[in-house]
Amino acid sequence: MPAAPRGRANDAPVFLHSSTTKMKMHKLYEKSCNEAATKCIKYRTFCRLWHELCPNIKIATPQEDVCVTCEMSRKGVADATTDDEKLAAASALEKHINATRKEHKVYKDCVTTAMDELRGTGRPTEPVEPCSTDFQHAHYTFDFAQNLCLPHHSRQMGPMYFVTPRKVHLFGFRDDALPIQYNFLIDEAETMMQDGGGIHGPDAVISLVDYALTEFGHGERVTTLHADNCGGQNKNRYLLAYFCWRTMIGLNEEIRYLMQVAGHARCIIDA
Ligand SMILES: [Zn+2]
Repeated sequence: MPAAPRGRANDAPVFLHSSTTKMKMHKLYEKSCNEAATKCIKYRTFCRLWHELCPNIKIATPQEDVCVTCEMSRKGVADATTDDEKLAAASALEKHINATRKEHKVYKDCVTTAMDELRGTGRPTEPVEPCSTDFQHAHYTFDFAQNLCLPHHSRQMGPMYFVTPRKVHLFGFRDDALPIQYNFLIDEAETMMQDGGGIHGPDAVISLVDYALTEFGHGERVTTLHADNCGGQNKNRYLLAYFCWRTMIGLNEEIRYLMQVAGHARCIIDA
């Protein structure tokens, strides 16, 4: 970044690519120590010193709703000089768009199939025993909405001086078959970790998904879920392990966990 955020006298933040991890940085460091034949410090000390001595060097968080492939292809089209280059760039973009369309069609098909199968069943009035019915196509979508502030005006009138609105997190869990959407409103005092930073992490997401599947599930054997293609929230080993655990102890026979292409996800849940 060109300068430090206003109100902070620190050095300007330097962002490492979002695919970097602290572990990877430590491996690089170890390698260079070995090459220079000097002693090196262990991973934990490395992290602590990094945090203490150069807090302005950060790993960029994966941005949602920005598609790198689209951005690069668009740039490729703009930068192309010869006709051949232009055609090549344009066809790469077309191929990518077609792939994302295919992925979106899978999502739409899941929703339609689920609606067709569960038509007329109505919302379960009390929790259904897991894996007890013959439903094949229960389909759920889940996602965090953008943070809300209370009081909430979609068109904020004028600046708000001296007041801090109350932050509320909104987690949506949608049963696409009925269809019905359950919204979890999480007050700022109910979040996890410092400044509520952990609320989008795997602990919170797994707890919410588990609650929703237990309370609102249809007792189906095969569950299909669509989630946002977001590394920190949904695309991690903990959530995958949770789904494995569900099938291992017989809460489901099969779980299909699907994602649309990052930056191209369009779900009814966001509406
Ligand atoms: Zn794209």
